Amino acid sequence: MKEKVSIIGSGFASLAASCYLAKSGYQVTIYEKNDQIGGRARQLQREGFTFDMGPSWYWMPDVFERFFADFNKKPSDYYHLEKLNPAYKVFFEKNESITIEDTLEKIYSAFEKEEPGSSIKLKQFIDQAQSNYNIAIKDLVYRPGVSPFELVTAETIKKIGQFFSTISKDVRKHFNNKKLIQILEFPVLFLGAKPSDTPSFYSFMNYADFGLGTWHPQGGMYKVIEGIEKLAISLGVEILTNSVVDKINVLDRAVISISVNEKEIATDLVVTGADYHHSETLLEPEFRQYSESYWDSKTFAPSSLLFYVGFDKKLKNINHHNLFFDVDFDAHSRDIYDTPQWPEEPLFYANFTSVTDENTAPKNCENGFFLIPLAPGLKDNVELRETYFNKILERFERLTDQPVIKNIIFKQSYCVNDFIKDYNSYKGNAYGMANTLLQTAFLRPKLKSSKVEGLFFTGQLTVPGPGVPPALISGKLVSGLIQNS
Ligand SMILES: Cc1cc2nc3c(=O)[nH]c(=O)nc-3n(C[C@H](O)[C@H](O)[C@H](O)COP(=O)(O)OP(=O)(O)OC[C@H]3O[C@@H](n4cnc5c(N)ncnc54)[C@H](O)[C@@H]3O)c2cc1C
Repeated sequence: MKEKVSIIGSGFASLAASCYLAKSGYQVTIYEKNDQIGGRARQLQREGFTFDMGPSWYWMPDVFERFFADFNKKPSDYYHLEKLNPAYKVFFEKNESITIEDTLEKIYSAFEKEEPGSSIKLKQFIDQAQSNYNIAIKDLVYRPGVSPFELVTAETIKKIGQFFSTISKDVRKHFNNKKLIQILEFPVLFLGAKPSDTPSFYSFMNYADFGLGTWHPQGGMYKVIEGIEKLAISLGVEILTNSVVDKINVLDRAVISISVNEKEIATDLVVTGADYHHSETLLEPEFRQYSESYWDSKTFAPSSLLFYVGFDKKLKNINHHNLFFDVDFDAHSRDIYDTPQWPEEPLFYANFTSVTDENTAPKNCENGFFLIPLAPGLKDNVELRETYFNKILERFERLTDQPVIKNIIFKQSYCVNDFIKDYNSYKGNAYGMANTLLQTAFLRPKLKSSKVEGLFFTGQLTVPGPGVPPALISGKLVSGLIQNS
């Protein structure tokens, strides 16, 4: 008889794990607490507008290709991908912005215009970043974080110095222009930590940004979730929504069943893609591997205040992706990581997928997604959300030189309390646990439980880390461990 695997959650990591396990002969069922699959990558549809609720930057297309290739498929079997040009626009002041286009040559020219001589330095920086990408993303991240020796290779030894310097220092060594420095520090924010706490080796994110480009699946990121769902179902995975897992039951130090909506279901193995901290609370305390003080001592990636907004007109002076770096970058970072508090003047990000993808908003309308990164665990209420909405929309109007507030048909906010309620997220984090040097690979919470036989973890709080590509890889890693155990 086939071994039965119960998977908790239906985020990217869980869906990926389900495909690998079903392909290798396990009988797989996914239990998702919400009424829609996708986890943090769920979709919101309202009044003809379509929003991705979480991820919007499709980076590292090679990781998606590699995932589908494991099933003899291609991304294009499931969704239509477009390389965005421009990739994004960064606003620094009114009439002061830099647009990042779709090829390295065009980006070198944009840099040269801002700081003479910088294109040559950028080329050297990106060559280095590409070499790091080839080591990190094509190889190291596919190792399961079981042993420190996984990180010791002939290539990493040559680059050891880059683990003891930071992105922040490295970028400042080569560039003087403040705007260029901010653009080069932006990609590592996806890893969830400050550039001044992120090793130089992680410049592979800069290669992902400038070298590989920003892509858009037509219809939005949710098309990727739907694609993997289709693949999973074709492999025989059963997916159940509105199914809250309340308990992981253990006998003789081995998993025997899970309780779903308070009903016990026997299982041979459990893979949980729900947030790691929450997953451990489904166990009796003696079977948990990490204490509350362990979690409290970790650097978590930010939470976010988000707004999904429908506008009744087309907006001008914007691109698909837009970064608003018109206020002090360092002050906002300190409010996220050092002295957690609501920022005085926040940086923010906005996307309008309807600029390039007309199916995501009604005709002559624009869908706006606004994101302010915040420290996890902050107090969250309607008044605070409203104050910050007004703050950023006023800046948005000034920087893009147009009235928009009176063109809002609706808005829906999402913040710390929603992350906790919807995803059982630890302190309402949005992107999991940060990928700092001391929270990398074998130093992250483990994929396999050391206390309970048959219990495994996947997703952005374990290996390799936050983001959609790492979540896909995490699903592959955990299924590999199961097959080899
Ligand atoms: C606002 C935002 C913007 C982002 N932007 C990007 C981006 O542009 N690009 C990028 O690559 N990444 C981005 N990310 C990160 C990326 O979305 C995540 O890293 C990834 O989706 C996490 O997937 P996961 O499978 O680890 O977890 P999740 O998606 O959180 O999945 C966990 C699932 O478990 C379910 N669950 C929890 N508890 C239970 C329970 N008891 N019973 C049953 N089910 C349960 C949850 O409902 C959820 O569906 C963003 C994230 C957010 C929130």
